[in-house]
Amino acid sequence: MVDDKIFLPEDEIPKQWYNILPDLPKPLPPPIDPSSKQPVRPEMLEAIFGKELVRQEVSQDRWIDIPEEVREVYRLWRPTPLIRARRLEKLLGTPAKIYYKWEGVSPPGSHKPNTAVAQAYYLMKQGLERATTETGAGQWGSALAFGCMWFGLKATIYMVRASYLQKPYRRVLMQLYGAEVFPSPSDKTDSGKKLLAENPEHPGSLGIAIGEAIEDTLKHQDTTRYTLGSVVNHVLIHQTVVGLESLKQFALIDDYPDVVIGCVGGGSSFSGTFWPFYYERYAAKKAPKPVEFIATEPTACPTMTKGIYTYDHGDTARLTPLLKMHTLGHDFVPAPIHAGGLRYHGDAPTLCLLVNEGIVKARAYTQTEVFEAAKLFTRAEGVVLAPEPTHAVKAVIDEALKCKETGESKTIFFLGCGHGHFDMKAYEDFLEKKLPAYEYPKEAVEQSIKRLKELYPWLDTLPY
Ligand SMILES: *Cc1c(COP(=O)(O)O)cnc(C)c1O
Repeated sequence: MVDDKIFLPEDEIPKQWYNILPDLPKPLPPPIDPSSKQPVRPEMLEAIFGKELVRQEVSQDRWIDIPEEVREVYRLWRPTPLIRARRLEKLLGTPAKIYYKWEGVSPPGSHKPNTAVAQAYYLMKQGLERATTETGAGQWGSALAFGCMWFGLKATIYMVRASYLQKPYRRVLMQLYGAEVFPSPSDKTDSGKKLLAENPEHPGSLGIAIGEAIEDTLKHQDTTRYTLGSVVNHVLIHQTVVGLESLKQFALIDDYPDVVIGCVGGGSSFSGTFWPFYYERYAAKKAPKPVEFIATEPTACPTMTKGIYTYDHGDTARLTPLLKMHTLGHDFVPAPIHAGGLRYHGDAPTLCLLVNEGIVKARAYTQTEVFEAAKLFTRAEGVVLAPEPTHAVKAVIDEALKCKETGESKTIFFLGCGHGHFDMKAYEDFLEKKLPAYEYPKEAVEQSIKRLKELYPWLDTLPY
């Protein structure tokens, strides 16, 4: 009998991360400082991010050593299992083989600790004492709090006030890991105090929370740096442990994916999964099959399928440099009825480049479709997925049903990037039929990009 779960021994945890930068089909357009219209010099980023993380951000090294201390923490839950979803195959009556890499086994419950642990380690090595960040629903905040715990680093997390009040359990998790969590806007920063003076009940937003975390960092340069949980290169690099382990697991069972599927918020979990397969196909040219890559997203936040590929700010408050990416406009506001996660207005620049080159294909689904797919998955496999990877499951089911029509026995591989145990409200709303099939209108994207180009009329003259 063939196993349903493919495990690796702990000494097979990768010793190096993979960096796609030297293997991209074109050079990555650099981040631009809107005041000078010039590429941002890496040294300028060192006031905000850890020094080694800035080095990795622009590194052209294909392989980057994983510090032994980081591997030691990874051993708590890595290598994660590759699981054959045999019961889902049976339920669908498909000849396809379906596998998923299961990151829901990490203690905070998602892929995010893969980078949080590494970032906390490098800040500690730099002699810093504290990491700051913002969090919305709390996935990234809880991963960072967990990461900091191992290296004696303090974590200060600015949590959007509306989430702080409505989603208390992730806040409790962060506090249990030892982090200090402030509802944002807070009275800890000048920007927060100003907003609270205007409205003591201010619900907050991710943009405001980012602003507070960065202000806190800039005011405490000797002890503190800011951290991000997605979008930037160094985060995607750390996530490649997912794909590198998967390659070894497929080799153990003498199989290989025809297609790799993931969901995209900022693009870190999907990139970490497909990059090593991309390396085998396009750089090393040793992939046994012409493996394809499918990125999925919500129609409520359709960056890759309706966004414009242009330079835009990474945040609402326009604190970040301009990044070349598929964007809905930095003033995008997610619809309040959207429960499917993945609410970021842009995506990782490397992923956008590959989407623009046609190497990664993008698909968008409504929240009704994805929660239907998730329900089917739970009833077949027993596992409750986070709302984000349910988008991948919808694409998996579509691909598997296509195989049923054609009789092909494709190997379909997707990333289960997290469990949904803290997301029961979304499932409850779905079961009570309170989640409409919402699509963000193309006109709203166009208007937002028009405002961006009024702000920076020189945007289209950049040579990238
Ligand atoms: C944060 C998160 C995402 C979205 O981020 P990516 O960088 O696109 O991976 C997706 N799924 C889960 C479970 C998350 O916590």
